[in-house]
Amino acid sequence: MLEKLGAGLRAALEKITKAGYVDKTTVEELARDIQRTLLASDVDVKLVFSLTETIKKRALDEKPKPGMSAREHVVRIVYEELVRLVGRKPEIALKPHRLLFVGLYGSGKTTSIGKVARFYQKKGLKVALIGCDVHRPAAMTQLEQIAGQLNVPVYAPKDVKDPYKVASTGAEQFGKKYDVLIFDASGRSALDPDLAAELKKLGEIIKADDVLLTIPADLGQAAGPQARAFKELVGITGIFLSKMDATARGGGAITACAVTNAPVKFIGAGEKLDALETFDPERFISRLIGFGDLQSLLEKAKEAELKPETAQAIMTGKFTMDEFYEQIKAMQKMGPLKGILESMPGMGMMKMPKEFDASAMEGKMKKWKHMIESMTKAEKADPDIIDSSRMKRIAKGSGTNENDIRELIKYYNQIKKMSKMISGGALKRGPLAGLAKRFKGFG
Ligand code: GDP
Ligand code: MG
Repeated sequence: MLEKLGAGLRAALEKITKAGYVDKTTVEELARDIQRTLLASDVDVKLVFSLTETIKKRALDEKPKPGMSAREHVVRIVYEELVRLVGRKPEIALKPHRLLFVGLYGSGKTTSIGKVARFYQKKGLKVALIGCDVHRPAAMTQLEQIAGQLNVPVYAPKDVKDPYKVASTGAEQFGKKYDVLIFDASGRSALDPDLAAELKKLGEIIKADDVLLTIPADLGQAAGPQARAFKELVGITGIFLSKMDATARGGGAITACAVTNAPVKFIGAGEKLDALETFDPERFISRLIGFGDLQSLLEKAKEAELKPETAQAIMTGKFTMDEFYEQIKAMQKMGPLKGILESMPGMGMMKMPKEFDASAMEGKMKKWKHMIESMTKAEKADPDIIDSSRMKRIAKGSGTNENDIRELIKYYNQIKKMSKMISGGALKRGPLAGLAKRFKGFG
């Protein structure tokens, strides 16, 4: 369900985990990607803009929690704000109560009543159904059929044309013996004044504890105005999101969640009576983005992050071979080193050797690892002491040759020179401040 919406959000988040670093530009781009996806899925325009404004503000103003990388921080904020957008977790009371279903014609009210009836029935409550859709005899038949499937009593007379009379007779008939009474109302646009008056009065007669508005997930941009109007007219206490299986976009559903401020209570995703679940905002969004995907995105973001000590060491030009290795590895995860360096302001003059390209580095990394492992602590801390006899020993220990070791030391020194230039320049001012901020411990 909502495949298109989910895929769009996922793609936007993936982009940020792959970005070399997170700054105002990347956050703004992420916000634009999210906007595009939500708008294409029919989420209300105002909601979209207020959501992305909040995301931008939080992403740039709030500091990442300890141990959280900048990317993880942003992905988390997006997740949290999406969860907040779809509302709070509803309370589903397992006690005697009266439920009135309202909503547009064809929105899935009668079917959803069957699902909810089955839900309470399974929880051990005694359920009865009352059909107040006096305008359509077929609706009464439909409710009877559903009641038959569930083996619950139903009052759905086809010859009474007064919905209030049906409601009060039904309530009288079942009120004492049954725990949950569910009333089916007729459906038209909430903007239809006759219906509005009818629903209002029905609610008063029934004394409904819960007025559930059925919103089909594929309603699109109309969902916002409809949800708002129903809320004003009959005071809905919750939403039943129906037909979640029938749309890849579903922005209407999300809009309805947000504008009514009434919690979504149930989700219907199928025509069968067991196609029901209770609503859980976190589960909903996790599934929308793909929770597995979300987790791996966060992990990827973490992997690509340098240890703060290492970053500190590198930035001040005092680092060991191990730290050098860790940095190269981290940088590779961020993408081609060259691209990262070139994207840093003020780094144009740092011409890195072609061999620093990610593809060429792959093979070297394994060798380097072995060579570094064959070094003593003193050699790792200060490769300058590696003379030819030490070199021979390391080559033998790592199954490499002396040229390989010379090359490694050359790269090490190149990075060192570069780091010294960076740290020599003021880290906190000028164009390099952005780079410094990227590493924890410098922000
Ligand atoms: P009502 O007019 O609001 O009472 O709507 P109905 O309950 O009669 O449903 C209208 C149509 O939508 C019927 O064909 C139902 O089978 C279908 N429907 C209802 N809920 C769902 C759902 O969750 N998924 C799908 N795919 N169809 C649904
Ligand atoms: Mg109906």
